[in-house]
Amino acid sequence: MKGIVFDIQRFALYDGPGIRTALFLKGCPLRCEWCHNPESFLLKPQIQRISVGGKTVEKIVGKEMSVDDVIFEAVKDRDYFEESGGGVTITGGEPLLQFEFTKALLKSLKSEKIHTCLDTCGFAKWELFEELIPYVDLFHYDYKITDSLKHKKYTGKSNELIIENLFKLCERKVDLILRCPIIPGINDDDEHAFHIAQIAKKYPHIKIEKLPYHDMGRKKWDELCF
Ligand code: SF4
Repeated sequence: MKGIVFDIQRFALYDGPGIRTALFLKGCPLRCEWCHNPESFLLKPQIQRISVGGKTVEKIVGKEMSVDDVIFEAVKDRDYFEESGGGVTITGGEPLLQFEFTKALLKSLKSEKIHTCLDTCGFAKWELFEELIPYVDLFHYDYKITDSLKHKKYTGKSNELIIENLFKLCERKVDLILRCPIIPGINDDDEHAFHIAQIAKKYPHIKIEKLPYHDMGRKKWDELCF
């Protein structure tokens, strides 16, 4: 079982509890205007042209890895995971676009007794989420824009499916952090804040995290060959 991975970050401190290894998978169904990981968009390796010492150099973003390759990397930090309450976070892109790989990896991580976190934009069939519930200790669930037309304008897709899946996961009482990127001029409005508060009130067992906007990924948009 192989997946296409564009980055592995060890000692990640902002991708879930404790010290973690974050695995970034390629492929995303959305195209958020503020995305700082545009190298995740395509579900295949691609060329990125970067400047090194004034020269333009091409590098390939994305490579095939097997479940065993990832487990081999992950177990190296097992002691750190155990000491800090950390584990492995699967992110991207949207990990559910590589569903079979993501599922196999989550199952292997659980059999290794490693804590798992799944970072998702929520845009996938409910049946896929449902299949993964037994293997995910914590969901990081993006909530970007409340108004569906506006969501479509800024991400390329409307949000009905995303909200439906969110509510279904909340009803199942899974551990979930609703991650809300706040983008100036796009979703920093009262209506959006009100809906986030309504969700928090309806499902008090979930946590809410606001993510401040940064434009560190902007340069990558120009460097990538689509
Ligand atoms: S869902 Fe995440 S990875 Fe996909 S385009 Fe939006 S910000 Fe980028």
